[in-house]
Amino acid sequence: MVPLGVEGDSTTAPPCFECRAPCCAGPAVSLLPYDLYRLVRALGVPWQLLAHADEVADGPVALDDRRRVDFRLRQQAGGCVLLLQLSSGHGRCGAHAARPGRCRIYPFHVEVYRRSADYDVVVGLGAACPPDPAAQWAGLVRAEASRDLIDDEIAEQALTRKVMERWELARRAAPMTLDARHFVAFCERIYAILDGVRRGPRMLWQLDAYQVVDAFPVTMPSLLAS
Ligand code: SF4
Ligand code: SF4
Repeated sequence: MVPLGVEGDSTTAPPCFECRAPCCAGPAVSLLPYDLYRLVRALGVPWQLLAHADEVADGPVALDDRRRVDFRLRQQAGGCVLLLQLSSGHGRCGAHAARPGRCRIYPFHVEVYRRSADYDVVVGLGAACPPDPAAQWAGLVRAEASRDLIDDEIAEQALTRKVMERWELARRAAPMTLDARHFVAFCERIYAILDGVRRGPRMLWQLDAYQVVDAFPVTMPSLLAS
């Protein structure tokens, strides 16, 4: 277990300040494709050094009609592969600015309702927060900064669903066996184009991003190039 003294911004600092709970030492973090793209771009390393693709029955990424994979951050002794051990004995995220969405909104858990635009936000039952910080976090659920962070994550998940729909078209049209590398190459290309529209507040570009995804080619060159 790793004692964490997490440095954070005005949103995260109060509950996390001086916290000693092992919150980055838990189960491997599951990644949205944009999480992986953002980490690779920020750290400049091959994606395989950061994550592995686990073949699991309920994985979010279909490679064909039988095989599905879940991309998860690798782990090292003591927790997440990106967790840095400081000489003070505290831990710190080694990729804070590019950390995955789940880490951005942690310890909140978001429940999205499929039949409406509503969602609930709570401090997750599996969160490592000790009682006092957990109570502070619960009080921050409706704070403006928390909601901005959570709204952004939910909007990113909506964009992810569009990307996954596009991937479905591409992989169904593919005449060869696909693996995780094809999916990552597909996502690298589509998210590199999306970088061009991510300018200013999300509400100004989210619809443009949907159009970019809808126009992305699903033919072989986009899948084969990596
Ligand atoms: S366990 Fe909770 S309060 Fe402690 S550092 Fe992690 S998120 Fe912050
Ligand atoms: S990516 Fe950073 S914040 Fe997320 S679990 Fe790893 S070390 Fe912690």
